[in-house]
Amino acid sequence: MPESIRDLVMEHPLFDAHEHVSSVPDYAKQEPHFSALLGYANADLVTARGPVGVGERVLPAMDDPGYTSAFFELWRRSRVTGYCRATERACRDLLGLEFREENADAITKAYAKFVGDDPRASYCMVLQEKAGVAWGIKDSIHTPEATSDELYPEEFIRFNYRDDGLLCILSRDDVGEREAWWQRSIHSLDNLIDGLMQSISDCLATGKVTSFKIGVAYRRGLDFKDPTRHEAERAFNRLMGVNVDTTVQASSATGLPSRQSRLSAEELRPLQDYITQRYIRRAADEGLPIQVHTGYLAGNTGVLNNINPMQLVPTLMRYPRVRFDLFHAGWPYQHEMGTIGKNFPNAWINLCWAWTMNPATMEHTLDAWLDGVPHCKIFGFGSDTHSPLMVYGYAVQAREGIARVLQRKIDRGDIDLTLAKDIAHCILLENGVHFHGLA
Ligand SMILES: [Zn+2]
Repeated sequence: MPESIRDLVMEHPLFDAHEHVSSVPDYAKQEPHFSALLGYANADLVTARGPVGVGERVLPAMDDPGYTSAFFELWRRSRVTGYCRATERACRDLLGLEFREENADAITKAYAKFVGDDPRASYCMVLQEKAGVAWGIKDSIHTPEATSDELYPEEFIRFNYRDDGLLCILSRDDVGEREAWWQRSIHSLDNLIDGLMQSISDCLATGKVTSFKIGVAYRRGLDFKDPTRHEAERAFNRLMGVNVDTTVQASSATGLPSRQSRLSAEELRPLQDYITQRYIRRAADEGLPIQVHTGYLAGNTGVLNNINPMQLVPTLMRYPRVRFDLFHAGWPYQHEMGTIGKNFPNAWINLCWAWTMNPATMEHTLDAWLDGVPHCKIFGFGSDTHSPLMVYGYAVQAREGIARVLQRKIDRGDIDLTLAKDIAHCILLENGVHFHGLA
């Protein structure tokens, strides 16, 4: 048993509550390149570069001889951020090289060697042994085939069901896309809901789907209303109908006669909200939890006024027996999220991705959450990334922050070492295992 809280946290098995880790075949065929370690840091390079002119690029094309120097010029201006520091840490620890311009070629070669001749073994080694992931919830699937063991090792990867495109339905094309996925005709709102329910059933039948996901904050607000079926059907029928007064965009990829959305965002809401309510009720029927994206949006120039977890309060009140897992600490609404976590028995609060975005803020956040929220309701980590190597980088950064928070609480005399170890065990592993029914 480790003596210090830091030693325990740094080597404790992790529940990776939210990840987008690439499949084994995608990991195998990724072109070796130093930028494979970028993870989220690309967004900081874009911000560092500032506005670019029309037709200009943030960076030259990757095969341009000027790419590497332009890349590292931006890197040197950004490298203190959480995104960038995690990349430097992963590069140093896993490849034995500093993430610097003079090492660019060596990093590319070391990356190729790291993936090696047996990519599946390398994939499992970095995730399980290096990052210490005991379980990961891969985001996201909407077909049973996507859960195959060939793609994701079943000994430690499980899945959530997610179809934000449907929850945010915009046009007739979205319906056509589901017809293709589900291999059934959709002529009515009932057909659409039946198709969704069957798709969920098919995915649940794999035994590998532990949860549902709502990630619509990238596209709209989280203030879900509860419209009547009539209101939703009126919007659906208007969405589907083609009349002489309709302007259409001809020939869609889905083979439908037209792509159109002649509904305003306001008119679409009853349909989107109705589908979302049916989706939540299905989770309720199955006894499965729902993960919800709240807080900051990946990338740049996101609609940052759509992300406050407080918008979910009516939904939390409407479904008191549905377990909601609220993501990303709600950053920058981490205090709002703490109050939700304290107040609602059906809300769990999650630091996934948060240690990557803003590690200093998350140290204050976890410190404060532990003073207000039962520690059985907090998930400490989720890597939220594609590259297995960056799962490691983000995991180490999270472990460092969590260890410091617990050590400070011990130093202040708020808790003793035994309790600190118990808290670490819960927020790093146990809470996730129980929440997702993997015990
Ligand atoms: Zn994510």
